Amino acid sequence: MKYVYSFGNDSADGNSEMKNLLGGKGANLAEMNHLGIPVPPGFTITTDVCKFYYDNHLTFPTELRMQVESALKKIEKTMDSSFGNNENPLLLSVRSGARQSMPGMMETVLNVGLTSSTIPGLISKTGNSRFVFDAYRRLITMYSDVVMEKAAGVEPAEGKGIRQKLEGILDIFKKENSLEKDTDLSGDQLEEITQLYKVEIRKNFGSDFPDDPIAQLWGGIEAVFKSWNGARAISYRQIENIPDKWGTAVNVQAMVFGNMGNNSATGVAFTRNPATGKNQFYGEWLANAQGEDVVAGIRTPNPLNEDSKTADTQHLTSMESSIPELYDKLSEIRSNLEKHYKDMQDIEFTIQEGRLWMLQTRVGKRNGIAAIKMAVDMVKEGMINKNVALKRVKPEQLDELLHPMLDPESESSAVLLAKGLPAGPGGASGRIVLTADEAESWNSRGEKVILIREETSPEDVHGMHAAVAILTAKGGMTSHAALVARGWGKCCIVGCGDLHINLDKKEVNIGNTVLNEGDWITMNGTTGKIYQGQLSLIPADPDTHNEYKVLMDWADQVRELKIRANAETPSDAKQALQFGAQGIGLCRTEHMFFDEDRILDIRKMILANNQQDRKAAVMKLLPYQKKDFMGIFKVMEGLPVTIRLLDPPLHEFMTLTEIQIKELANHIGIEKDTIKKRINGLHELNPMLGHRGCRLGIVYPEITEMQARAILEAAAELTKQGITILPEIMIPLIGTINEFLDQEKIIRNIAKDISQKTDIKLDYLVGTMIELPRACLTADEIAKHAEFFSFGTNDLTQTTYGFSRDDIGSFLPDYLERKILNHDPFQSLDIKGVGKLVTIAVQAGRNVNPKLKIGICGEHGGDPASIKFCKENGLDYVSCSPFRVPIARLAAAQATIDIQQ
Ligand code: PEP
Ligand code: MG
Repeated sequence: MKYVYSFGNDSADGNSEMKNLLGGKGANLAEMNHLGIPVPPGFTITTDVCKFYYDNHLTFPTELRMQVESALKKIEKTMDSSFGNNENPLLLSVRSGARQSMPGMMETVLNVGLTSSTIPGLISKTGNSRFVFDAYRRLITMYSDVVMEKAAGVEPAEGKGIRQKLEGILDIFKKENSLEKDTDLSGDQLEEITQLYKVEIRKNFGSDFPDDPIAQLWGGIEAVFKSWNGARAISYRQIENIPDKWGTAVNVQAMVFGNMGNNSATGVAFTRNPATGKNQFYGEWLANAQGEDVVAGIRTPNPLNEDSKTADTQHLTSMESSIPELYDKLSEIRSNLEKHYKDMQDIEFTIQEGRLWMLQTRVGKRNGIAAIKMAVDMVKEGMINKNVALKRVKPEQLDELLHPMLDPESESSAVLLAKGLPAGPGGASGRIVLTADEAESWNSRGEKVILIREETSPEDVHGMHAAVAILTAKGGMTSHAALVARGWGKCCIVGCGDLHINLDKKEVNIGNTVLNEGDWITMNGTTGKIYQGQLSLIPADPDTHNEYKVLMDWADQVRELKIRANAETPSDAKQALQFGAQGIGLCRTEHMFFDEDRILDIRKMILANNQQDRKAAVMKLLPYQKKDFMGIFKVMEGLPVTIRLLDPPLHEFMTLTEIQIKELANHIGIEKDTIKKRINGLHELNPMLGHRGCRLGIVYPEITEMQARAILEAAAELTKQGITILPEIMIPLIGTINEFLDQEKIIRNIAKDISQKTDIKLDYLVGTMIELPRACLTADEIAKHAEFFSFGTNDLTQTTYGFSRDDIGSFLPDYLERKILNHDPFQSLDIKGVGKLVTIAVQAGRNVNPKLKIGICGEHGGDPASIKFCKENGLDYVSCSPFRVPIARLAAAQATIDIQQ
């Protein structure tokens, strides 16, 4: 079994295709050798060894030692020096390198091989004792921290780690000798410091810093493998969805030094600007420094070239002007790497005494704006084709253009208060208020507010609208607050368990901090993080980006899935059209009832205790509903509009304050106490499974009659005006065909009546939501009658898992942390379980009616992974909130490309 892959001197055992085995870094180091790019020689120990190590009680395969020894010999030959040799010692670096880059999450040990016997040899070779003892000091610090402390599982108290202790010794030494910077220390002084370090290490660990090069090398290798399971790496894997079983490779390489005098240097660069996407070589460098000085921000780096200069760095010397020949060489490597990899690269280099070495190349991380620009530019430059460009941009990255985002720089230094579920993406800063009315009144004074609630109800909608962002203690990704906020493109975090509201004192506890009404907080709705104070934001403006339009056009040419929007007002419908929606996939009519001009009538309807009163109250709503539908139909002229009949549990309308009860009593003309009694009578133990959905229209047919009439009269009127409209009437939450037939009959009768009276032929469909497991399992029966299916995956997830969609926030974080769930199933479809039901329903439905129109309108309709699933299952369209329409367009194009490949 081959565990070790060598590279160096323009040849290598591996190549860039072998990322799974060699890790990204190892595979690319090998590849650079094939391209003739100078790379310090070395070898990669494979990810298989990492797996072996964890599967075999932290031991290595027996062959490994010999393979490492022979690979080491090759490095010695190329470098013309020997590891552990007293006269001409070779030094090594030991670094991690997983399949996918995990920057800074695992450990590194540099300068391995410096011992009491090799130090004199290196001093006489370099003539620079300062350099050698500085390298030794760094080795001792890194080794004791990484190998003797972290890898050994020692867990010191906060601020009491060996690294801090050694840095403390260095600080005291500098103070006592009145020195300011590390560079002011002489070789002798650095030697003295290394002695002090060793004493501290013995005191701390009860053992010595190893003076044997081989022990140092194996200590380093094992520590890097161990760092795969370090706390930082584990949590990064969770965030980035990197499987634990991948493991890391270890790269051992000859050290090259950028700190060997003024003809040495080090730097990091991107082959294009990662923030703007411009085709400019962009980077930073430092003369006479080691790489860690640039990365760790110990010294302020200089701009690589003119293009990398900012207002703050104008005056600093660039590599381009300081060492032009080497800069030209680096530029040439930049072009070669881009040409070869056909993507932007993130590179690290070192110049040792006038000789340029490349230490790393990898695909560079970039923000959304840059990702789009680079993808489009590279097609224009003939480097990649349109399909590759479409796959280069993560659909979520479009969010950066659609919502304001937190400025990453200000976020990195902000105080984190707590985390919740990321329900509405983007960033927002505002002053906190605790009621919807306060939100509205502060907003009318020109204040930016964030509305904080235990959970929101439709009653809060005016305050939610007035707020720049919404934060709730309870709820999940499909709870009321989340749905509404996403529909408006508002930043929103829900289910923040560390949030406690004290309405009487007008204060909240977020994590360990107490905040008062009016205090500033900032939210990152993309990650669910809540920060103290006001942080800066980057504004959103997709239309200013030409490349965005180009990319979206390409997406539309490629994709086959249609994209609709969930919207219930003409203005949301307009927004959806602007974002490229091809119809409305879900108009939740209950959302239309919360306007002040009708809320009292809907409450009157709910509280009516006989059919006559109910009918009278319902019919008062007819003109409002008709007007609503006319508005939406006009905006969506020529495009399908799916209108869902009333769906929610009625108590959603009936959570009332004393004042509201009084107002209602006056409106209806009955006693307050009678109202209270009737509200109590509506109480349900499980309202989500109670009298809602089609059950409302079945028990109270007058509601369905009124809604069908409003839709179809609006349709008739507009048809008469020559406006093409395509209404699709959708019956919610059916579990049996009989429920569908009951409601369908009412709708068809109303249609007949209107057609007769107006003499207009109505073009409309009657279909149903499929959102209960029983509906999926009996889809063949339903498809004999329904003209379309729309999967309501919010309720389908709720009823398949038995998780309340409004209460999942209380246990989801534990489920995710303990890996009982890999993701929130209300955010991204549970393909194994809920998805299976969808597949069954699609197949059964299409078996009976091959032309059955099928879509999805749960929140998953805007989630890229779920969209891919919809495409694979032959759905005709997905419907999502207007602000996710562009994301869905791109995700749908990617799904088509994936299926073609
Ligand atoms: C659903 O259940 O997925 C759905 C779209 O309906 P609602 O979220 O309104 O229950
Ligand atoms: Mg539903």
